[in-house]
Amino acid sequence: KLYNQVQDLKGSIRVYCRVRPFFPGQPNQLSTVESIEDGTLTVHIPSKNGKGRKSFNFNKVFGPSASQAEVFLDMQPLIRSVLDGFNVCIFAYGQTGSGKTYTMTGPKEITEKSQGVNYRALSDLFLIADQRKDTFHYDVSVQMIEIYNEQVRDLLVSDGTNKRYPFYQSFDSHLEVLICSNKGLSVPDASLVPVSSTLDVIELMNLGQRNRAVGATALNDRSSRSHSCLTVHVQGRDLTSGTILRGCMHLVDLAGSERVDKSEATGDRLKEAQHINKSLSALGDVIASLAQKNSHVPYRNSKLTQLLQDSLGGQAKTLMFVHISPESDAIGETLSTLKFAERVA
Ligand code: ADP
Ligand code: MG
Repeated sequence: KLYNQVQDLKGSIRVYCRVRPFFPGQPNQLSTVESIEDGTLTVHIPSKNGKGRKSFNFNKVFGPSASQAEVFLDMQPLIRSVLDGFNVCIFAYGQTGSGKTYTMTGPKEITEKSQGVNYRALSDLFLIADQRKDTFHYDVSVQMIEIYNEQVRDLLVSDGTNKRYPFYQSFDSHLEVLICSNKGLSVPDASLVPVSSTLDVIELMNLGQRNRAVGATALNDRSSRSHSCLTVHVQGRDLTSGTILRGCMHLVDLAGSERVDKSEATGDRLKEAQHINKSLSALGDVIASLAQKNSHVPYRNSKLTQLLQDSLGGQAKTLMFVHISPESDAIGETLSTLKFAERVA
C-alpha cells in the first residue's frame, strides 16, 4: 500500500498550529486562546475597549491537551510517504518557550509517552519497513546538523563517549552546503550514520543533543538561536524488479522567532538576531512563493533554504508547524507567529 495519497488542501504545503499548555504551578490566568474549532484558532487581542479577537485558519490546530501520540498520528501519512520515495520537510516554528522542541524531540526527561515526532517517525519507518520486508529492502541513515549564524555544523561527531560509529569530522568545522547533489546529500561532509533500530536512533539523538549543548550556558541557551535539522535518508530496493526508490525527510527545530529589542541587543547577540531574522524570513519567502506557485523561488537567500532546496517544492511535501504560548503577555509574539503562518498557508 502506498502512502502518497495524502490529502492536500493547498498544493503540498500544509500548516498546523499547536498551543502549549500553561506551565505547572503557574498562577491561573486567562489564555490568549478563545476557541479552537476544527482548523480555526481564535485569539483574544487586548484592546482599549477590551474585546478584540481574531481568527486564523490552519489545516489542523492542536490545543494544550493534545498528546504527543495524537500529534504524531496526524503526521504519520506524511512521514510514511518517505518510504515511497517522497521528500518531506517538517518545520517547528515559534517563539522560544512555545513548545517547538517538545513537539519535535520531547521534554527534558523523555519517556515513551512524551517522545516527540523525531523518535516516533523513525520507529514508525522501521515498523513499516519490517512489514514490507518480503517485497522491499530499506536502508535508513541519518544526519544531524545545526545552523548557527549561517554556518553549518555536524552534530553527529564523536564526543568521546561513543565509539560505535565512524565519525570523521572535527567538531568546529563549518560544512559546505551543495546546491545540486546527485546523491541527495545537501551536506555531503556531515556524518551519515546508518540506523536500523529505535535504540540506534535514541543513542544518536542523545549525542546530537549533547553536541548541541556545547557552548551554551544557563544564561546563554544557544539551542534557541540555532536551527537544528535531523535528516533521514531512506533508500528502498524493490526485491523483484530491483528498482531503487530514494526519499528524504528533514525534521527541523527552528531558532526562536522572537524579535530582539534592538536597543538591548549588541555585539554577538545582535548578529545572531540578524541571522535568525534573515533565515526565518527567507524560509517564509520560499514557502509563500511555493504556496502561490510562483515560478521563481528564492532559495538562495539563506543556508537553511539552500540546504533544503531539494526537499522544498516539486514533489516534496512540507509541513509548517507553528507553536504558540498561551500566556496573554506573549500576545505580540503570538500574533507575529500567526501572521507568519497566514502568509505561508
Ligand atoms: P521551544 O523549543 O519552543 O523553546 P520547549 O519545547 O523547550 O520550547 O518548551 C518550553 C517548555 O514547555 C518545556 O519545559 C517543555 O517541556 C514544555 N512544553 C512545551 N510544550 C508542551 C506540551 N505540549 N505539553 C507539556 N509541556 C510542554
Ligand atoms: Mg527549543
